[in-house]
Amino acid sequence: MKGPIVAIDGPSGAGKGTVARRVSEALGYRHLDTGAMYRAVAWKALLDRLTLDDEAAVAGLAGRARMVIEGGRITIDGHDVTSAIRTPEIDRAAAAVARLPRVRQVLVRRQRAEAEAGGVVMEGRDIGTVVFPDADVKVYLDASAEERARRRAADPAHSGGTAGQAAVAEAIEARDRSDTMRAASPLTLAPDAVRIDTTGMPIEDVVETVLALVRRALRKADG
Ligand code: C5P
Repeated sequence: MKGPIVAIDGPSGAGKGTVARRVSEALGYRHLDTGAMYRAVAWKALLDRLTLDDEAAVAGLAGRARMVIEGGRITIDGHDVTSAIRTPEIDRAAAAVARLPRVRQVLVRRQRAEAEAGGVVMEGRDIGTVVFPDADVKVYLDASAEERARRRAADPAHSGGTAGQAAVAEAIEARDRSDTMRAASPLTLAPDAVRIDTTGMPIEDVVETVLALVRRALRKADG
């Protein structure tokens, strides 16, 4: 039997990364961070001095690039960009290339191929709505804007500590606006997703809640 697909969507700073990683470790599934793919494409587009709204050029790059996502690291065309893609500049550039329908088409195809065997926890913005509308478990992680800004500002993986919380809050708000208002696959709550408001919730409890949803889905599938 094909392994289950667990879709985790939500806005920036809602805790998707940590939760997806811990859930995948607990279940022995693969963790696929689709945001890292948009970020890597944006990083390479900047390196190649492309204009970020040149849809044909950026989609061409996304289609040709060799991307490897393995063990928490990501490389694109041989460059390990794991840390380089976690900067405010790439936050903005990733949201810009993610608005381009042809870029999304290419990356969604790659995401589906990566999850062919199942047994995957995939995090992003459109996993439960577009990439895997039939995912076995769909979770939408949310948190208050203040809490998300606070988490992001404290996160060392996201150049934490270098920007004040007010600046981080402003940047997150701009990215939320871009991600929810764009025409192509905007961030939205799938009707059959379980929304978890993680504001003030210990991360262990969020992980446990998601694991309980997966176990329930597995029991249901077993009949
Ligand atoms: O999740 P992360 O913040 O790393 O994603 C970076 C950007 O990539 C998001 O702001 C969003 O614009 C885009 N993205 C997307 N669809 C996904 C994952 C990420 O549009 N499935």
